[in-house]
Amino acid sequence: MSFKDLKLNKPILRAVAEAGYENPTLVQEKTIPLVLAKKDIVVSAQTGTGKTAAFALPILQLLFDKQDASKRGKKIRALVVSPTRELALQIEENFKTYSTYTNLRSTVIFGGTSIEPQIDVLKKGIDILIATPGRLLDLHKQDIVNLDYIETLVLDEADLMLDMGFIDDVKKIERLCPADKQTLLFSATIPFKVEQLANTILKLPERVEV
Ligand code: AMP
Repeated sequence: MSFKDLKLNKPILRAVAEAGYENPTLVQEKTIPLVLAKKDIVVSAQTGTGKTAAFALPILQLLFDKQDASKRGKKIRALVVSPTRELALQIEENFKTYSTYTNLRSTVIFGGTSIEPQIDVLKKGIDILIATPGRLLDLHKQDIVNLDYIETLVLDEADLMLDMGFIDDVKKIERLCPADKQTLLFSATIPFKVEQLANTILKLPERVEV
């Protein structure tokens, strides 16, 4: 199977080709069509399987296909929640690479570092936000981040997120997003706690295992 068979559009195919990806990985083959079909999904996949592109590519396509020129960059339409700063930075790098030929803008926010530069970028307007839970809730409380227009929410490394004690933050973030959003949960393993979270916040999720 090729990326073209996955019905990704030209600006995204071009960026993928330039990244040197020849064919989709298994998790990408299984996940991309489900995201494009706007399904909620639970994906069990380890780091290194290509799971970041498995959600980033179809999210970019969904946002790219449905754009209102007057609102471009004014509303955050996709949110990726990550347990650690390192992972958040990696996800942001991936989004930047894959969005080169789109006009979509992304940024990353995390704690442990000065908040002002993050506020400046957010105020300019972005389409995709990658965030760690604490800093996200902080900036939401300060009315800098508005989650009212989120169309797709990604919870990445959900098992790690729960191990790190972020369960209440994650549930709070989910409730701050619109009820009719699409939710994608990625986790290396699916212990009972993750299963419970998925059952609480996802709508009839499809499962992907690799
Ligand atoms: P991840 O599992 O998202 O951390 O990705 C692991 C690595 O695989 C990253 O360095 C990606 O750039 C790379 N990658 C993702 N998808 C593909 C692909 N289809 N072909 C080749 N490399 C890929």
